[in-house]
Amino acid sequence: MTKAIRKAEPFKIKMVEPLKMTTREHREAALKEAGYNPFLLKAEDVYIDLLTDSGTGAMSDNQWAGLMLGDEAYAGSKNYFNLAKSVKDIIGYDYIIPTHQGRGAEQVLFPSLIKKKGQYVIGNMHFDTTKAHIELSGGRAVNFVTDKAFDTTTYYDWKGNFDVEKVEEFIKEKGSEEIAFLLITITCNSSGGQPVSMQNIREVSSVARKYGVRVFIDAARFAENAYFIKTREEGYADKTIVEIVQEMFSYAEGFTMSAKKDAIVNIGGLLGIKEDMELLNECRARTVPMEGFITYGGLAGRDMECLARGLREGCEFEYLDYRISQVAYLGERLREAGIPIQYPTGGHAVFVDAAKILPHIPYYQFPAQALCNALYLESGIRAVEIGSFLLGRDPETGEQLKSPLELVRLTIPRRVYTNDHMDVIADALISIKDKAPSLKGLDFIYEPKVLRHFTARLKPVE
Ligand SMILES: *Cc1c(COP(=O)(O)O)cnc(C)c1O
Repeated sequence: MTKAIRKAEPFKIKMVEPLKMTTREHREAALKEAGYNPFLLKAEDVYIDLLTDSGTGAMSDNQWAGLMLGDEAYAGSKNYFNLAKSVKDIIGYDYIIPTHQGRGAEQVLFPSLIKKKGQYVIGNMHFDTTKAHIELSGGRAVNFVTDKAFDTTTYYDWKGNFDVEKVEEFIKEKGSEEIAFLLITITCNSSGGQPVSMQNIREVSSVARKYGVRVFIDAARFAENAYFIKTREEGYADKTIVEIVQEMFSYAEGFTMSAKKDAIVNIGGLLGIKEDMELLNECRARTVPMEGFITYGGLAGRDMECLARGLREGCEFEYLDYRISQVAYLGERLREAGIPIQYPTGGHAVFVDAAKILPHIPYYQFPAQALCNALYLESGIRAVEIGSFLLGRDPETGEQLKSPLELVRLTIPRRVYTNDHMDVIADALISIKDKAPSLKGLDFIYEPKVLRHFTARLKPVE
């Protein structure tokens, strides 16, 4: 099974960055120094870094060459026009505003859409900075992802889909004037990089339109979503990725994009608007004080050139086929060894169910964080906890909240690690599984009040 889905890299390696090979003793000292919180490790002490797929992709020779063509112009650089042309060719929209990253596009767009305090923004599952910007603009973020997303072990093709009936009921119940807009996140990052089907995009956007609710796309992983549509949805096998992308975006009137994901750049974002000039002008006015002039939005000309090229490369079928297969291959190796994961795997990560591997560690001693630490000690791999440690405390009672899932996210950077690295990751987890009963939970020694997971310090429970 795993052999069949293992696809060789459709590129050769032109430049390498040597990785530091460390001993277990070295890693024990480094982890202790980092307060048993992998966020505080030095990247140099990490062998395979799976913290995030954001801004961690490897640029191609074509993108590096583009970097040298970066223009220094403040207004109207050629790189801006190249970027606008890429968006027009791939997505089909006429207007763009570059931003420093995805959240820059959110802060420029949302105040124009949320007209009064308390309006709802309907999503499949909003990303955390997206939710934060909705709230900063006075809105309320609500999620309507299918219940099937929470059943990690049962196969379903479209665990990023909206529950369209619930969306319609909600709009009817609240009244359309209480809804600011509907945001479709493709792929749905928070449910595990899970795809949204074309049929679901079509249906949910048509329900929204029926009630006069505007539709936008959170497009960080738009190309990976198109790949899933091509390979899983009836009627799309013979369409190109770009044709599928254009159809997806045809159901919306604008998008925000973190270009640090599918566009394979280290920094950058985009706001795209199909045709609404009034909205465009409002957003442009907000861009100047927040991000920078409207033709650079916080990016250098060279960043925009790499982005213009990365957008095209990110839509190549051979690349996507290798990319998604690499993630699936890691997932299959773990499943074969009886390690529970969110199944099927999504576009950018494998989520391991730590509560099932470490049932003896209670949620308030953070089983997924304990598993992340064990993974680092075993093989120098850095993963990230998505569970009770991330969730935090009830703001009123101060009680530790219990997350419904205790997950370790193995996020795969684009074009960075080989399939042999995937084997190292799988082998490490398999060997940890055998000694799982001896792993210990964690207690705080320092717990910041806000966003504690980034800087907290912990120690293993005695
Ligand atoms: C990463 C991401 C964002 C935010 O983008 P940044 O570039 O990190 O600011 C928004 N939405 C989704 C779905 C993302 O994955």
